[in-house]
Amino acid sequence: MDEPQVCAACGQPAAFAQDELPLCPACLQAMIDRPLPRWLYVTAAIIGLIVLLALLKFPASLGAEIAFERGKRAEAARNYPLAEQQYAIVVKRFPSSTLALARLGIASYRAGDIVMTIDCYDKLRGRESSDKVIIEFNAMMSELEQKLEQQQVHGGQEL
Ligand SMILES: [Zn+2]
Repeated sequence: MDEPQVCAACGQPAAFAQDELPLCPACLQAMIDRPLPRWLYVTAAIIGLIVLLALLKFPASLGAEIAFERGKRAEAARNYPLAEQQYAIVVKRFPSSTLALARLGIASYRAGDIVMTIDCYDKLRGRESSDKVIIEFNAMMSELEQKLEQQQVHGGQEL
């Protein structure tokens, strides 16, 4: 006959064995009710903080990504004011992004917002890049320069 199982915690007869650890009902209940160890709270707090930081950071870059896609679509549809607005969101999130600045500069030029175009030009000046977007931007800038020169020839009058 098997030895009667005793509670591993208090030595009283165990009412049932849970896996390999026999416990009496009182000790089993106490184990279930036992507060979680402190390290678990600390770990949970750290994980919570990391998740919170990721959530705070993520929508911004995700938002910029969505704005960039919207900007490209608006540009393709020749809705340049909307494209400028969307690219401005991207530049706000990634102020040093060559691609974002160049697209904003091009869209603002097409939208007639020359102040913004010049601002983007200033920020992009001196950047070494053989990117397609920089070539496009430079072509747009020489187009703008030509227009400005023509305006000067005509005494600054609007054509
Ligand atoms: Zn017990």
